[in-house]
Amino acid sequence: MPSAPPIKAARGVRDILPAERAAWRWVEEAARATARNYGYQEIETPILEQVELIERVGEDTDAAGKELFRVQPMGGQRLALRPEATVGVVRAYFEGALHQHPQPVRLFFTGAMFRHDAPQKLRYRQFYQFDVEAIGDASPALDAEVIEVAWEWLASVGLARVRLLLNSIGDSVCRPAYLEALRAYYRPLRDQLCPQCRDRIETNPLRLLDCKEDGCQALKAGAPRSIDHLCEPCARHFEEVRRLLDRAGIEYSLDPFLVRGLDYYTRTVFELQHESLGGAQNALGGGGRYDGLAAAINWQDTPGVGFAGGIDRVVHVLREEGQEVVSAPAAELIVLTEPNGGEDLAGPAAELARIARAVVPTAVDYSGRSLRAQMRAAGKADAHWVAIINADEAAARRARLRDMPAHEQREVTWEELAGLLANAGT
Ligand code: AMP
Repeated sequence: MPSAPPIKAARGVRDILPAERAAWRWVEEAARATARNYGYQEIETPILEQVELIERVGEDTDAAGKELFRVQPMGGQRLALRPEATVGVVRAYFEGALHQHPQPVRLFFTGAMFRHDAPQKLRYRQFYQFDVEAIGDASPALDAEVIEVAWEWLASVGLARVRLLLNSIGDSVCRPAYLEALRAYYRPLRDQLCPQCRDRIETNPLRLLDCKEDGCQALKAGAPRSIDHLCEPCARHFEEVRRLLDRAGIEYSLDPFLVRGLDYYTRTVFELQHESLGGAQNALGGGGRYDGLAAAINWQDTPGVGFAGGIDRVVHVLREEGQEVVSAPAAELIVLTEPNGGEDLAGPAAELARIARAVVPTAVDYSGRSLRAQMRAAGKADAHWVAIINADEAAARRARLRDMPAHEQREVTWEELAGLLANAGT
């Protein structure tokens, strides 16, 4: 045994082992299927982005500040691991000239995000999101559509008890007056706020509503509400989003203090919560309209709306609810070898496996253990079939094919094997 402790995974990250990967894949596949069903196309953006891109859209936000995973510069560019998807997708939309396509452009992807937050249950430093973006159109119909995609995704994986919270935080016309009203409310309460919120009164008062500290939470109740300060176009937009959600049969609650952590959001913001997730990590996903984002990263002013859902959390809730997604067995057929006198049967076993693989996923037990032990291992691995060969059978290109659940065994030639398996339809 080595004297030093075994090397483990980095703090706040985790492995998705095969037993969990099946549920994971299912949730991802549901995401893809739902997005495609609404006419969204898959995109992939890099995990590495220039720090500037991320800082530009949220100087005062955690995602751009203390939570950002900065990568040690090895050359000229300052780089970071992406903390969220939207800004990269919007950058790609322009760099890939998608803005010259018919608008809106509907995009989605699933991938890893990175935030250097204090790790805790359901809050990881590397986590996975399903991301949906509709860019290039300011219509409230797209806000409702993106919400519907998120909603349908959760419904399609079988999640009930999902709560949709909705708010509008106005735009560059009406928000300044609202922020002033917030400041006026909070200034006299400054001493009762947490230190970070004290600073936020002047820099980013919207985020005071987002603070999870008990003291700050309590003061929120009396704060002015953004929906009471919307300009006429923002109010009309919000009304239309609500009307469309009603028509789609999607229930929501208005949450006048729901804001998004990033600064470029305008008008509609929403969050999907699940009641089984308690505390601060109760959100399965969230999103909103970001009409200010493109200009903030120096591209032409372009509206957009999007959603990001947490795959880790959806998988977690599914398991909590007892929804078992059975993982596929490692192999449906395992070739076992029974050496009569120490012959090396690896070559023939591999050849037989190659034949079987034309029909079913096939592995070989190369261990040389007793046949009993190999059978036991194949049973544990949930293999439907085993094909056993000894040296004589290998020479005659024959095998014993065993149907494990049926406890039936028959002699077959290697040439017959593929046809038999295909007819058995496993
Ligand atoms: P956000 O961009 O912060 O609104 O994140 C969207 C969704 O991603 C959240 O609702 C969570 O489900 C998920 N999420 C965000 N941060 C984390 C994290 N650190 N660990 C796991 N899931 C996360």
